[in-house]
Amino acid sequence: MVVAHSVLGPARARLATVVQQPSPCVRVDPVRTCIGCRERAAKSELLRVTAGSDADGRPAVVPDPTATAPGRGAHVHPTTRCYDLAVRRRAFGRALRSDPGLSSTPVGDYLASAITR
Ligand SMILES: [Zn+2]
Repeated sequence: MVVAHSVLGPARARLATVVQQPSPCVRVDPVRTCIGCRERAAKSELLRVTAGSDADGRPAVVPDPTATAPGRGAHVHPTTRCYDLAVRRRAFGRALRSDPGLSSTPVGDYLASAITR
């Protein structure tokens, strides 16, 4: 049956496409540089930060743990060590191409609560 065969063909191809979805376990993570220690690490090991606004609406560096915020982002190891290094180097403002004096307190607060959790 030639007709039945040609109907089954594309259907099977579609099924294969669904099964072959990229798996996060197999995929190689893109590499980013930590703005604190300047070491390269898999993107998933780093915390993304972006220029946003703090709880009072003032411009600040804010954590973006889901990496979904639009705009320019920077990456830092989610540790107080790398955060402190980034603060000392004013790396947040530089990496985000914004005010070098930009407050990064929301990121510090986020890390403090994430680590003590
Ligand atoms: Zn680091």
